[in-house]
Amino acid sequence: MDGQRCFRGAVWFAAFALLLGATGGTRGWSQEADAKARVILVMTDGLRWQEVFRGADKKLLASKGYFNGRSVKELRAKYLAATPEERRERLMPFLWKTVIPQGQIYGDRDAHSDASVTNGFNFSYPGYNETLTGFGDPTVDSNDNVPNHNVTVLEWLNKQQGLQGQVSAFGAWNVIAAIVNAGRCGFPVNAGYEPFEMSPMTPRLELLNALKVETPKVWDGEPYDAPTFNTAMEYIKEKKPRVVFLSLGETDEWAHGGNYGEYLSAANRVDSYLEKLWTTLQEMPEYKGNTTLIFLTDHGRGGGPEWTTHGQKIPASKYIFMGFMGPQTPGLGLRANVPGVTQSQVAATLAKYLGFDWNAEQPKAGKPVTAAVK
Ligand SMILES: [Zn+2]
Repeated sequence: MDGQRCFRGAVWFAAFALLLGATGGTRGWSQEADAKARVILVMTDGLRWQEVFRGADKKLLASKGYFNGRSVKELRAKYLAATPEERRERLMPFLWKTVIPQGQIYGDRDAHSDASVTNGFNFSYPGYNETLTGFGDPTVDSNDNVPNHNVTVLEWLNKQQGLQGQVSAFGAWNVIAAIVNAGRCGFPVNAGYEPFEMSPMTPRLELLNALKVETPKVWDGEPYDAPTFNTAMEYIKEKKPRVVFLSLGETDEWAHGGNYGEYLSAANRVDSYLEKLWTTLQEMPEYKGNTTLIFLTDHGRGGGPEWTTHGQKIPASKYIFMGFMGPQTPGLGLRANVPGVTQSQVAATLAKYLGFDWNAEQPKAGKPVTAAVK
């Protein structure tokens, strides 16, 4: 069944490429023009739009919302400020000083900009599935660690001309391997506490694998973000893939634990990872000037005392944020007073950056975010 799907897609794509050639690429993009394009998709699990756009919440940043009464004095000094603009820059300085002015972000509900999931479940597996396939699937209704029956845009891209062997995925949460269907997708996947084997191995990777085994397993199936992020970085430096999916998980885990202090620290770390990633890529000739960063979350969370949770019973947890930065993204910055965008648009947007039409392969997928791709 997958083979047939793939074949049909290839035939359609060939026809589409011919059409583009015949019309001189009047749609403004073509496969040839994007032969060097690269995309890094970063997701951090369950980070609220509220913290992204308003910064730290003073009421929630209390000792009872940290490690069993540990002082939050330093965290308050670091993250609190008089205005939302100051607070968000303190929490995510790279996002606000670099990504947003150079690129775009959606989802600031205070500025009449909604970004939302459409799957109706507002939890992780359905959210990652929606992001990677372009549609909410009513049968993807649990976080069970079972292989995804849907073909993700990553799996499809890995079979397209010029992208074979150029896709990879790294997830802190072990279920990420099932969501991209590691057994079928045909590209390298590393998730959870699993060691990552690369040929040749590097001393740094050996150490990262050891740290996953030798540090406490605070969460079942999910290490801290640090080894996952650094494993992805090591693979990028060594193998230089054109498409990378990186999923980080601490923001969701600390939130479920009611630990607002550590949730903020995790968000701040994710921001520093984005900076480290972007800086590294711009120092590599393969990535410099032709790489797009997409940054979003799989779901939002509740407001007020419900900030720790999310799901169908928390309708507001459908609201997320979506950011884009790269040579093909006009620098429109914080998108205000614009029509809403949805998580289901990410897969087609990602493919379009690479010169591919995911909607032609998967008609159920949302259309690309028009203003985010030149
Ligand atoms: Zn969660």
